[in-house]
Amino acid sequence: MPELPEVETIRRQLAPHLDGRTIVTARILDPRWTRPEAPAAVEAELSGAQVMRVNRVGKYLVWSLSGERYLLMHLRMTGTLLFDPIAPPPHTRVLFDLEDGHRLVYVDPRRFGTGHVVHGTAARDAYLSARLGIEPLTPEFTAAHLRELARERTAPVKAFVLDQRRIAGVGNIYADEALFRAGIHPLRPAGRLSAGDWTRLRDGIEQALSAGIEAKGASIDDFRHLDGARGSFQDLFLVHRRAGRPCPRCGRTIRKIVVGGRGTYVCERCQPRPRRRSARLSAMRDPGGVPAPGAEPARS
Ligand SMILES: [Zn+2]
Repeated sequence: MPELPEVETIRRQLAPHLDGRTIVTARILDPRWTRPEAPAAVEAELSGAQVMRVNRVGKYLVWSLSGERYLLMHLRMTGTLLFDPIAPPPHTRVLFDLEDGHRLVYVDPRRFGTGHVVHGTAARDAYLSARLGIEPLTPEFTAAHLRELARERTAPVKAFVLDQRRIAGVGNIYADEALFRAGIHPLRPAGRLSAGDWTRLRDGIEQALSAGIEAKGASIDDFRHLDGARGSFQDLFLVHRRAGRPCPRCGRTIRKIVVGGRGTYVCERCQPRPRRRSARLSAMRDPGGVPAPGAEPARS
């Protein structure tokens, strides 16, 4: 699934072709893309509109259109954009015919991607803020802000990092890479991280995302550039998808575990497991105490 660096790569490639250009006609071949809007209504909004600028917020591409309208595009699992492909590729969902005869094609085999047009900045901001938390690589993305968001959270820190309503744009690849860079085990409860942990994690997230942008994204699945080329960040992964291989920092074998249902890669020397307060430990601390919930009854 494209994450922040992949969507940013597309945005950077798209901008020179779209900024200031007019969409002559848009044809939506799959009604799922605009649901619950009717495709014809969205086609009418897009056809004849001038693209003022293409931005990115989290994993969304935000096209600013003439008339204070915004196309909010999410690529989800397998969406890609291709500029001037030789022939219409399989799984084409949307065709944008641009002025000067150029064509932009939206392709999406799994069909989870979406496109919505909203009117005015207030509607745009409401749409995005309902779905997205703080944006990495901006001045608001501070360790103190993250720590405040995570206060009292008992969920594993990886699940916290993946939650788009808290941190925008980070998915499975960059969460693993960021936690490794920070030396933090993905299963640690988010609310238990110290101020120092959050500083390292903030830095780790931004370093991993920046490295991904620099390598023009990771192509481990369907992600392709505008011209069909692949990104190269998959060749630079430190731990993600590297189970059984040595940790680049300490040499211990990288393990694959499951956190919140997601395959997760970790070096358990560089990222120590959270200490569990086992029933035995609690009993040692408080010999007369009630066993912790879920603890096995003591044998007599
Ligand atoms: Zn290591």
